[in-house]
Amino acid sequence: MKQTDIFDVVVVGGGPAGATAAHELARQGRSVLLLDRAGRTKPCGGAIPPRLIRDFAIPDDLLVAHARCARMVAPSGRQVDIPIDNGFVGMVDRDSFDEWLRARAALAGAQRREGVFETITRDAEGTAVLRYRPARRKATSDGTNDIVEVRARCIIGADGARSKVARQGQVPGADRTRYVFAYHEILQVPDDPALQPPGYDKARCDVYYQGRFSPDFYGWVFPHGRTLSIGTGSADKGFSLRGSVQRMREACGLAGAATLRREGAPIPMKPLPRWDNGRDVVLAGDAAGVVAPASGEGIYYAMVGGQLAAESAHALLATGDVRALRLARKRFMKQHGQVFRVLGIMQWFWYGSEKRRERFVAICEDKDVQQLTFEAYMNKQLVRRKPMAHVRIFFKDLGHLLGLVRV
Ligand SMILES: Cc1cc2nc3c(=O)[nH]c(=O)nc-3n(C[C@H](O)[C@H](O)[C@H](O)COP(=O)(O)OP(=O)(O)OC[C@H]3O[C@@H](n4cnc5c(N)ncnc54)[C@H](O)[C@@H]3O)c2cc1C
Repeated sequence: MKQTDIFDVVVVGGGPAGATAAHELARQGRSVLLLDRAGRTKPCGGAIPPRLIRDFAIPDDLLVAHARCARMVAPSGRQVDIPIDNGFVGMVDRDSFDEWLRARAALAGAQRREGVFETITRDAEGTAVLRYRPARRKATSDGTNDIVEVRARCIIGADGARSKVARQGQVPGADRTRYVFAYHEILQVPDDPALQPPGYDKARCDVYYQGRFSPDFYGWVFPHGRTLSIGTGSADKGFSLRGSVQRMREACGLAGAATLRREGAPIPMKPLPRWDNGRDVVLAGDAAGVVAPASGEGIYYAMVGGQLAAESAHALLATGDVRALRLARKRFMKQHGQVFRVLGIMQWFWYGSEKRRERFVAICEDKDVQQLTFEAYMNKQLVRRKPMAHVRIFFKDLGHLLGLVRV
């Protein structure tokens, strides 16, 4: 056992949340260790909005596709195409995207290590001691010493859904999170358009609101240049996600496409009630339960969460006031809480039955709805400058809710 370094902040997890937090703190001159489990690509559709690309200075060459249209498909097969005017949704491959974020953090001064975080204990002064198993084990004289210890004044838990840091750090309520399970397959897309499935468009995201593909979420086909992601999610444990993706592949003419990867992961359904332990641990991203309901979008929110966790850690180190750690959640909910609440209601209501899904897609045909919802997705702001559009949508929604509007 080797007890050596002490860091201002140890960030556990090098996904979008952790890499962003480490980058921010290193830029501010803090000593930071970024610890990540090596060698696993995060299962993810990889869709990111322009706001993320802008705010976090993502270079264009990381985007493997630019989606300029979203197609919504209703249970009846009715299709509504939503053009993305004056912009695009970016598509990233998570292996290269996450690695780029981690490399940027290292360039700013964060120390990178590969290993699996195990436990948090305390030394005699009460300072946190983290133990991790390094990815590449070093031979030692007794042949058993493969655990490394580091000390940290503050810890950021960015280790994804079912965070071990949250449990080890005793963040209240961390063990009560509920999840949607998402599963996708990465397929090869033939270069020759003549060999591509009929109707496939490398610049369009297809979203299937059909009970046969998901009873409570949606299925998707997202373009990734030479590959694509086809997947689905559900909170219903009895629903076969693999079976659903097989049915989607058949329905989309993709049954025979070469499968490069099959993978899945839980997506948290709700932000945790607390993101800190009132002492020296603060959570970010999926570890904090932060994924938008209805869309399952988590990358942007993870990066914002990473930034806010870094701000909180910085404030704690500067002042010694542990209340600074609470600011991460408080600031996040102030910026995005309303959108999360609206999306939560939307998912609960519109994804609840085949009839409602049909109506939901019909509503999306409305130009006002398209403009406002896409503006909200692209720029992460509820649009306030068009009050009459909101009023029109309100009455249309009410009509749909009460069943007064025929679809
Ligand atoms: C199938 C699927 C499709 C999705 N599609 C989209 C999409 O299109 N767009 C979108 O915005 N969001 C999507 N999401 C959600 C998105 O992937 C997550 O919200 C996002 O990755 C969260 O980032 P994070 O940094 O918090 O966690 P993660 O990306 O999960 O990163 C956690 C990191 O911690 C590391 N780690 C975990 N445990 C340990 C440990 N013990 N020790 C050391 N390191 C550890 C992991 O290796 C990983 O690098 C999707 C999710 C799934 C499952």
